[in-house]
Amino acid sequence: LIIYLFYFKITLGKNGVPVAENFRLEQSTIADTLQTGQVRVKTLYLSVDPYMRCRMNEDTGSDYLQPWQLSEVADGGGVGVVEESKHDNLAEGDFVTSFTWPWQTVAILDGSLLQKLVPQLVNGRLSYFLGAAGITGLTALLGIREKGHVAVGANQTMVVSGAAGACGSLAGQIGRLEGCSRVVGIAGTDEKCSILVQEMGFDAAINYKKGDVAKHLRELCPGGVDVYFDNVGGDISDTVVSQMNQNSHIILCGQISQYNKDVPYPPPLPRDIEKIQKERNITRERFLVLNYMDKQEASVLQLCQWIQEGKLKVRETVVEGLANIGAAFQSMMNGGNIGKQIVLVSK
Ligand code: NAP
Repeated sequence: LIIYLFYFKITLGKNGVPVAENFRLEQSTIADTLQTGQVRVKTLYLSVDPYMRCRMNEDTGSDYLQPWQLSEVADGGGVGVVEESKHDNLAEGDFVTSFTWPWQTVAILDGSLLQKLVPQLVNGRLSYFLGAAGITGLTALLGIREKGHVAVGANQTMVVSGAAGACGSLAGQIGRLEGCSRVVGIAGTDEKCSILVQEMGFDAAINYKKGDVAKHLRELCPGGVDVYFDNVGGDISDTVVSQMNQNSHIILCGQISQYNKDVPYPPPLPRDIEKIQKERNITRERFLVLNYMDKQEASVLQLCQWIQEGKLKVRETVVEGLANIGAAFQSMMNGGNIGKQIVLVSK
C-alpha cells in the first residue's frame, strides 16, 4: 500500500512565521495486516488550527501540547472512514474522528483512540465535526457558558475579535442565542465584516485593518462592552478592554496576534490596560476547552440542534489535497479563511 505522509521539516524557533515549506510530502507504505484492536482508516478531512503554531516549538508553552518532532508525521484533528477493522466496536464503513489524526491519506490506528461519529447529526456534513460540531463549536459554546456570564434579559453587549474565523463566527451567534442583546465583531476584511452582519446576524462589524477601531467601537457599543470573546489579544484587545464596563467579562479564548512572539501564555496586559481591568473588576480567566470535556456530549448535541434548526450558520474554507495542508495552515494564520479552515483529503 502506497500512502502519502506529511513530514514536519524545520523547527521555527519562537519568533518565526510558519510557512507551507515547513512541511514536506513523502510516499511510504503501511503494514498490510492489522493487529488486534487496530483499524485501517481512510482520511477524509483534516483540521489546521492556530494551536499548531505552538507545536512547532520545542517548548510548546503548554503541558497538554506535545511538540511536533522533526521528520515525523504531523497530526491534529481529523475525520475518516474505517476501511478494515480488528477492533470489536468498529466496523468497515464507520465514520470516526480523533484529535491526534496523522497527516496521512491512509493510516493504521488504535481503535480505542477513535470516537465514532453519527453523520445524521450534521446532515452528512462530516467536516463539521472538526468545526461547528467539534472542538471549535465547543470552544465557542463552553467559553461563553463558563466564562461569559451571559444572561437572558440582561441587555448585554458582546464584542468578538477574530470574529469571521471558526470560533469567532460561532461565538457571536451563540452569544446572541444565549441572550446578548447586541453583538459586534472585529475582523480583517470588508468581505468578512459584511458576511458577519448579513449572514451570521451580528449587529455590526469593524474591519480592524481600516480606520480607527476605538472610534468605531465607541459608536457601535454606546452602552460599553459587557462581554468580550477574545481570540486575538494585542492592540485590538487593549482597545476593547478600554471600553469595557464595570464588572464585565473577558472570555480568554486565544491570542493569535501573539503566537509568533516569544511571550508567555496568556500574555500579560500592558500596564495601563491592566489598571483598567483591575479598577473595573473585569474578569480575565484562562479558558481551555479541554478542561470541560465532561460537557462534550450534551454540548455537541446542542450545537447540532442549532445547526439543524438553521440558528447557527456555518462557514468553511476548504482546501483540497493533503499536499496543500501546509499552505492551508499558513493561509489560516494570515486570515485567508472565512469560518473553519478545512483540508479535504479524499472524497
Ligand atoms: P480562526 O479564527 O478560524 O483563524 C485565525 C484567524 O485569526 C484568521 O482568520 C485571522 O482573521 C485572525 N488573525 C490572524 N492574525 C491576527 C492578528 N495578528 N490580529 C488579529 N487577528 C488575526 O481560528 P480558530 O481555530 O477559530 O481559533 C481562534 C482562536 O481561538 C485562536 O486564538 C485559538 O488559539 C483559539 N482557540 C482556543 C481554544 C481554547 O480552548 N481556549 C480552542 C480552540 C481555539 P482576520 O482576517 O480577522 O485577521
